[in-house]
Amino acid sequence: MFKRMQSMQMQAVYCFQTTGPDQHEYRAIIALHNTHLGPALGGCRCLEYANESLAFDDAMRLAQGMSYKAALANIPQGGGKAVILLPNNVAPVHIDRQFLFSWFGQCVKQLKGQYITAMDVGTQVEDMDTVALQTRHVASASNIGDPASATAEGVIEGIKAAIDFHFKYLEKNCYSKDTSQGGSINIFSGKIFAIQGLGHVGWRVAKALHYLGGDVIAADPDGEKCLQAEALGIKIVATNEILVQPCDVLVPCALGGVIHANNVRDLRCEIIAGSANNQLADDGIAEVLDQRKILYTPDYVINSGGLIFASMQYNAQNKRVENIDDKISQKISEIYSTLIAIFQQAKASEKNVNQVANELAQQRLSASADVKDVGKGDVYDAA
Ligand code: NAD
Repeated sequence: MFKRMQSMQMQAVYCFQTTGPDQHEYRAIIALHNTHLGPALGGCRCLEYANESLAFDDAMRLAQGMSYKAALANIPQGGGKAVILLPNNVAPVHIDRQFLFSWFGQCVKQLKGQYITAMDVGTQVEDMDTVALQTRHVASASNIGDPASATAEGVIEGIKAAIDFHFKYLEKNCYSKDTSQGGSINIFSGKIFAIQGLGHVGWRVAKALHYLGGDVIAADPDGEKCLQAEALGIKIVATNEILVQPCDVLVPCALGGVIHANNVRDLRCEIIAGSANNQLADDGIAEVLDQRKILYTPDYVINSGGLIFASMQYNAQNKRVENIDDKISQKISEIYSTLIAIFQQAKASEKNVNQVANELAQQRLSASADVKDVGKGDVYDAA
């Protein structure tokens, strides 16, 4: 465990456990990867894990991703993530969520503002409202809301950047953001987009791409969501077919680890650009994509819209901030230029896009460590 922490440069990992009034054992892990840029902000996953080691790994890997995400989005937050381990084989109706999230709120409170929690897989706004009764260090309770729209907005910016770069619209000086001739060109028209997952983010991305003129194909195991998409004119395919659809842009918006050694050579896309965290099963996959000339859009850059929204809304609480929505949209639109810079740097070097993004994030984190007396200068409040 300590070896793994060291290899990932984790700052701290906190463990909590309790027995609920329902006699179930509840356990939670809060992993803080790095707080040099500010208090760690990251969601809370609430899932069953096959074993504790998987839960620790999940928390640490996701916390590291949040540090990199905040660093490249240029926002004053560090990286952290929480994981609640649900008792195995207990039906959801037998979980006392009121108790569970009150207790989790107390855990967050003990960290005195070093960690700000939010929604993630397995948690909802109502759970965050329960947390908010215990601590104010929560960024997606009802007063702030669901970040999915902001994440989707960022994914569209990322797709624009990837298309402009990969199809050489930028080089031809005729690209999505160029309004110098009185209007930008429609880079979506005639392109095929294959979307995996029509959940909170995927559904919004699918609708946006459809209305922007793209040909959209999608898959989701949820039949209701598929019917809704079909009604809009989106073509539905089976979930085991979506990743290998011939398309211009593959948009993974469901699970992590979906591109792996067994399918990476079967992909028939030009670009991969979606919201899912940790889309590549391991770093070696980025190299194979590079060799296959498939442009990968680093997930923690393209999906940072939700973090930008949560951070800016959280930090604006109890202050008068004019036009906060416009300011958030402006910040989200910077995802475009961040990605273009990463693509250009990767092209000019022997490195793949993931290596370039990771190095850039690590540089920003080390630069912030140099200007801050780490661990001593961190002052958080106790509310
Ligand atoms: P969600 O749970 O609302 O949606 C996921 C969807 O994927 C569901 O509709 C589910 O039925 C579907 N799905 C599951 N297995 C599938 C499969 N094999 N093939 C096709 N579809 C499948 O989650 P979300 O909030 O939309 O997030 C989607 C992804 O984006 C997640 O990986 C999440 O971690 C990441 N993400 C989300 C946000 C956000 O603001 N919600 C921010 C950053 C990253």
